[in-house]
Amino acid sequence: MDSLLVECRACPRLVEWRERVAREKRAAFRDEEYWGRPVPGFGPTDAALLIVGLAPAAHGANRTGRMFTGDRSGDFLYAAMYEAGLASQPTATRIGDGLELFGTRITSPVHCAPPANKPTVTERDTCRGWLEQELALLSPTLRAVVVLGGFGWQALLPVLTAAGWVVPSPRPKFGHGASVTLPSATGEKAPLHLFGCYHVSQQNTFTGRLTREMTTAVLRTAAQAAGL
Ligand code: SF4
Repeated sequence: MDSLLVECRACPRLVEWRERVAREKRAAFRDEEYWGRPVPGFGPTDAALLIVGLAPAAHGANRTGRMFTGDRSGDFLYAAMYEAGLASQPTATRIGDGLELFGTRITSPVHCAPPANKPTVTERDTCRGWLEQELALLSPTLRAVVVLGGFGWQALLPVLTAAGWVVPSPRPKFGHGASVTLPSATGEKAPLHLFGCYHVSQQNTFTGRLTREMTTAVLRTAAQAAGL
């Protein structure tokens, strides 16, 4: 799946943006390859816990080619994951830095960096097929999901339905600390525990709306629900 994903060019606006940023910034990062392509999910494909963000950041994951790697949002997230026992180290600088995730995978509903971190609804829907494939892959072992922000929450719910979990109607609302357990539609798989957490963007972390303690607390609860 990853080798096909990194070649995807289905969203013209995002393809133009991710490649333009890479072209313009490559000189400033001469010692490394500036990725500038779709960013695949990171972590084991038999994970029990999935973390769902929004989209790669232009100078973070779009530069390094790994989810939440190389920017302040990632620094915040991996430090919290390390505290919760889900990562081997609190820092993430580049592919090959030794970081390992324990029973946890990180992905996003949009795999290419969008201008101003704002994908359109059409781009979200165009990218849905990749998220569906990832969920299908994880589905046998997946027990819990932490969604960072309302965009990811809205994007994920229909994918969970397609993957065979029952999403209640009306749909559960996103909020920090929101949690809901989704039963299997057929009884063939384990129920899925879904948790909401504010996104780890600087907009939230610099203003104190989201602290590391708050993030670690959600991750610990989700890890426990996932049996980690
Ligand atoms: Fe392809 Fe998703 Fe990137 Fe669109 S956002 S080009 S669907 S990988």
